[in-house]
Amino acid sequence: MFAHYGSRLERKCVSPSTQRIEQVYEQVVSRNPGEHEFHQAVREVFDSLTRVLSRHPEYVEASILERICEPERQIIFRIPWIDDEGTVHINRGFRVQYNSALGPYKGGLRFHPSVLLGTVKFLGFEQIFKNALTGLPIGGGKGGSDFDPKGRSDAEIMRFCQSFMTEAYRHLGDRVDVPAGDIGVGRRAIGYLFGQYKRISNRYEAGVLTGKGITWGGSLVRTEATGYGTVYFTEHMLSTRGSSFDGAKVLVSGSGNVAIYAIEKVTELGGTVVGASDSGGSVYDPDGIDLELLREVKEVRRARISEYADQRPSAQYLDARQVWAVAEKTPVDVALPCATQNELDEHDAATLIASGVKAVAEGANMPTTPEAIRALRESGVLFGPGKAANAGGVATSALEMQQNAIRDSWSFEYTEQRLSEIMENIHTRCADTADEYGIPGDYVAGANIAGFTQVADAMIAQGVI
Ligand code: NAP
Repeated sequence: MFAHYGSRLERKCVSPSTQRIEQVYEQVVSRNPGEHEFHQAVREVFDSLTRVLSRHPEYVEASILERICEPERQIIFRIPWIDDEGTVHINRGFRVQYNSALGPYKGGLRFHPSVLLGTVKFLGFEQIFKNALTGLPIGGGKGGSDFDPKGRSDAEIMRFCQSFMTEAYRHLGDRVDVPAGDIGVGRRAIGYLFGQYKRISNRYEAGVLTGKGITWGGSLVRTEATGYGTVYFTEHMLSTRGSSFDGAKVLVSGSGNVAIYAIEKVTELGGTVVGASDSGGSVYDPDGIDLELLREVKEVRRARISEYADQRPSAQYLDARQVWAVAEKTPVDVALPCATQNELDEHDAATLIASGVKAVAEGANMPTTPEAIRALRESGVLFGPGKAANAGGVATSALEMQQNAIRDSWSFEYTEQRLSEIMENIHTRCADTADEYGIPGDYVAGANIAGFTQVADAMIAQGVI
């Protein structure tokens, strides 16, 4: 599944900037063996930086590339907990505090059996630049555990979260490090984590976690923010070509937090979502996904998406990886990968291109493989990278921190308005930066360069630390 991105030094006529980038990349690979997703995330950012280093020799002199790839702190810990039958389990917990140049570390927690240190590092590395793009004062971090919440009772989830926080709390704080949710960590887990933090720190420090319940410090729109934000960003991309979601046919992968609210906003803007998925399967629904039924299956019953197909006469059930293959059955205008990393490969990109797709935007983190991104861009498809397209979630988390700091809570309308303005600004920033560097329409480079330069300038101003 994962490509290995080896040395490119053999390529001829390399500029000093390219040479430096390749040297640092080789160091990253050799210092972090086996962490392929992390290498992939670094490669993707580095590929945008040749022009930047040529214009800014001060970044090379201050060894910004080397410093930005090395997390400021990495914490790995044991999480013992007892299941409902009395069996003791041991999981592994991680928190990678990546970069605090712009503010306290900020980034979600992922609970999924696939989580390794390299997973957390790839997500934390991306988070640095994403958080910079929001224009809000937040640094980058990420965490999680290889714990699988699927099929666990509420009591088991609570005991696990309490054990996680019993170690993690000493590294967190509203001015230090502020986690949130991610895959497998929704409002229920955030509640248990917050409760344990409060208990052992003896402080009601609302701003230590985001994604909290609305009645105890959470922000309206946080639940919807990533999905809505992805759709806003895509709408801005489409508008550069005189197009919109109105009347568009859309594919969304996943059926979790990001996917559900992306589907909701697409539908609100006049689009029809004809496919969705989970880790077990996909559905093709030519009549448009019935969001109420999907939420009942996935959020209330916590069941498999196959149950959606069982109950919906217009829907057809397909294999897990086949959500993009829906584009073989019907023309698709927009694809929004909202499930997990590397879920849309070169083959899927070819299917989407043949179907006439106009835009692909990443609701998930790094869901599109580098080969697929290349194919989409070479075919003139608008491509919105996750760092920009899914930044609405963390941006609204930062709005939650603002509300906590001033002990206030804002209305849904006001908060959504702020989110929509932030997404418009991110789009403008990416587009303007791409123009400035002579690569108009390249949102990947625009996002990487805008995020990187902001963090690099702050790091230089703060000295060698
Ligand atoms: P979630 O609520 O746990 O939902 C994840 C969805 O993806 C579920 O439908 C899940 O299926 C599916 N999935 C997970 N692993 C998969 C796999 N290996 N193959 C196929 N499908 C898989 O998580 P989420 O919060 O929506 O996050 C989704 C993505 O968005 C992640 O990449 C996350 O890092 C990114 N993101 C999230 C936020 C946020 O605010 N939540 C912000 C920025 C980025 P099952 O139901 O079968 O588990």
